[in-house]
Amino acid sequence: MADAIGQLQKILELEIQRGYRNDAVVGGLDEYARQWNFQVVALIDNKETAERIAQIVQMLSDYDRLPAEARPSTIRHLRESLAVLGDKEIRRQGDRETRGQGDRAARTQVGKETGTQGEKDAGSKVERRSEKEVGTPEGKPARTPRKAAGQTAEPPPAARPTSSAPSQATRRAGTGLQAPLTTLPGVGVALSATLARLDLHQVGDLLWHLPFRYNDYSNLRQIDELRAGDEVTVLATVRRLDSRKLQGRRTLTTVVLSDLSGSIQATFWNPYIDKALWVGRDYYFSGKVGSYLGKRALESPEFELANDDPTHTARIVPVYPLTEGLQARTLRKLIRHVVDAWTPKLPDPLPPDLRRRLSYPDLGDALRQVHFPDDETALEKARKRLAFDELLAIQLGVLGQHRAWQSKPAQPLPLPDTQLKLFLASLPFQLTQAQRKVLTDIRRDLARDFPMTRLLQGDVGSGKTVIAAIAMWAAVCNGAQAAIMAPTEILAEQHYRKLKDQFGRLLNPQTGWPLRVDLLTGSVTGKKRQELLAALAAGDAAARTDILIGTHALIQENVVFQDLAVIVVDEQHRFGVAQRAALREKGAAFNLSTSAGANDTPHTLVMSATPIPRTLALTIFGDMDVSAIDELPPGRQPIKTYWIKPDARARVYKFIEAQVAEGRQAFIIYPLVEESESLQDVGSAVAEHQRLQTRVFPRLKVGLLHGRLTGKEKDAVMRAFAAGDYHILVSTAVVEVGIDIANATVMLIENAERFGLSQLHQFRGRVGRGAHASYCVLVSDPGSDTSAERLRAMERSQDGFALAEIDLQLRGPGEFFGSRQSGLPDLKLARISDARLLELARREAEALLSFDPGLRQPQHQLLAQQMTDFWSHELDLS
Ligand code: ADP
Ligand code: MG
Repeated sequence: MADAIGQLQKILELEIQRGYRNDAVVGGLDEYARQWNFQVVALIDNKETAERIAQIVQMLSDYDRLPAEARPSTIRHLRESLAVLGDKEIRRQGDRETRGQGDRAARTQVGKETGTQGEKDAGSKVERRSEKEVGTPEGKPARTPRKAAGQTAEPPPAARPTSSAPSQATRRAGTGLQAPLTTLPGVGVALSATLARLDLHQVGDLLWHLPFRYNDYSNLRQIDELRAGDEVTVLATVRRLDSRKLQGRRTLTTVVLSDLSGSIQATFWNPYIDKALWVGRDYYFSGKVGSYLGKRALESPEFELANDDPTHTARIVPVYPLTEGLQARTLRKLIRHVVDAWTPKLPDPLPPDLRRRLSYPDLGDALRQVHFPDDETALEKARKRLAFDELLAIQLGVLGQHRAWQSKPAQPLPLPDTQLKLFLASLPFQLTQAQRKVLTDIRRDLARDFPMTRLLQGDVGSGKTVIAAIAMWAAVCNGAQAAIMAPTEILAEQHYRKLKDQFGRLLNPQTGWPLRVDLLTGSVTGKKRQELLAALAAGDAAARTDILIGTHALIQENVVFQDLAVIVVDEQHRFGVAQRAALREKGAAFNLSTSAGANDTPHTLVMSATPIPRTLALTIFGDMDVSAIDELPPGRQPIKTYWIKPDARARVYKFIEAQVAEGRQAFIIYPLVEESESLQDVGSAVAEHQRLQTRVFPRLKVGLLHGRLTGKEKDAVMRAFAAGDYHILVSTAVVEVGIDIANATVMLIENAERFGLSQLHQFRGRVGRGAHASYCVLVSDPGSDTSAERLRAMERSQDGFALAEIDLQLRGPGEFFGSRQSGLPDLKLARISDARLLELARREAEALLSFDPGLRQPQHQLLAQQMTDFWSHELDLS
């Protein structure tokens, strides 16, 4: 090895002396690279050396393609790399003398055909192959440096013991994917600062900087076949170069190219083109055929010296996101370098058997193909594999949470038929088919000795509350307590009135007393609160609260239940995975402080009125089981929905006046950024309120609701509106949640294009809750076709599920829940709407977790790591 290093060092010195003309060795450095690689490859026995050698080989084989000005820095880099390698070699030999056969022994063991489970992972397998190939010198040496590097792959650095010597650690860091970009040939401080603007900091970041599209230049043609408009590549010799300064001081260079079939001109505006193209040499030229002075011409084509593995031409060429001051060519070349050097030895987190079963390429191949595809098919396969990885990470995350949750004990709450019949008999209606189906799921969950974690979704008015009530009834029938949480006081009160009425007709089967239903909100204070807390914790079942209704305060404050077995969370569709997990943990932790069943976790039912498309349900709500009520109770009137342009607004105001004259009420909604309602937005709602009150409806009472009011103020406004004190309520999006105002019949929404369909559907659900015909008017002058399409969908459909699907298709999952976090990590390649791949990922995640629940087995280490990395961003938020 030392010989090979010394020899190359001499050649490099010569190259410097001769002025970087690539003639220090016969055939050039690129030719020598193969020879050199073959000399040293047999001597590699550790990863750093392997990586460094791969880098050197890469730099050598790129050398011929480098522009003259880049050559000195590459040679410098090469010499530095060689020096490090030489050092290491000397130290290693010293080590070997003192340590005996250490390294050797390790190699032989890995080389055995039979191995333990741990050795069967991807890394060792590659290494085993390398051992064999290296052991047969007559075997063909790798043709390209890329393959040569592949022979020397080893498991990732993390899997190996790390050295404590700081200098060595630094050097190792310098060869890994975590190394700063300046360790790459040709990347100096300036370029790395430019790359940082694209959030590219480490070598590995380049591997994941994926093309956003491709130019298909794989179409190699003869010059006489070219037709204007084609995207093509020609392999041609540069015959002549002419540069002319035009007025405006731009330089036009025309270049005559020829092949055996004919010749054609290429035009360039780049004033330095004559430095890059050499007369008499062969290049690939790729681009669009246009015309110049009436003749066919290639306009500013991409080009590169003809070679058998082109980067910028004669292939499917990746097009990357760029930033100011960064040339497409520079970045592409850099990524090519990283892809060639690193993908062959990239450890693959997907277990090999899984990968084989799905016929996916390994990670390195997939990344290579996504950057520099061999053809469309290989690209498609690679994209699919990488998309699968992302979906698998999501599924491992959410299913892991699901499992963790269900591994806790819970109190079984079987609900016998007789008790269920008692409850149903107290209702003034029959359950719909959809409600009965959902009830079956929930009864089964409750009867088990681990906690239910179920999402119940159903359109506005589909009758979720009664289902929640039955779950709570199951708790009571088993001598336990239940709680329901609503997002606002006013909703809590609404639930309280309804549930008190409903349960008031029933007796507690355990005590024979009427059920005790209580309300706990921030407004319940003083003596009343003390009494209530005492009733919650009462040991005597007869004096105890059976069902508690409240806001989130009831799991956050020091509220102690005697035996809480069911928690219902209403209208929580806007919570992301992480927030929900936190909420559940709080619920569970809180329950630990109770005196009975102290180790039990309550069964949890989360209800959402925003229908969630199945694919999203499997991801954003993938940590829960999902049931849907997909049918409305009979006899509901559809809400007539109209989309109008702003200039027709005056007619709607007239219509609102007429409705008010008949005793009805109306909402007028202004769009806002939720949560962070800015002062400016609030200002516009305030100003509009002012205008409507004084100029449009001077004789009517107009209320105002917005996000800058305190909870109490908001409640006061809603209450006044519910009581009929206001005829019209001007509001921002805060009005959205499930309030019932039976008398409201008009919902007017300004700038409707700024809301998601699901949100619009929610607004619409605020009217039509009484006996009167109701109307929803969308005011919008939409800028885009997509917006128009969405508004038309609102006019056409009353089906929240269908609208949710449309919204997902048109806007993607990020937008689906408005501007808030969906709780999902960033996806580079996967589409949440890809139902088939998603279901596959879910199945495989389930299989993996049932085999190895904590992903602790050695062959799953990388997968576990990948999943954690993937989710870490999101989990940091909670
Ligand atoms: P949401 O699903 O939006 O929370 P609710 O549970 O508030 O809807 O139900 C809306 C209304 O429909 C309530 O007044 C409820 O009593 C009524 N309801 C629920 N189920 C049925 C049914 N099967 N038949 C008739 N009315 C029903
Ligand atoms: Mg509801």
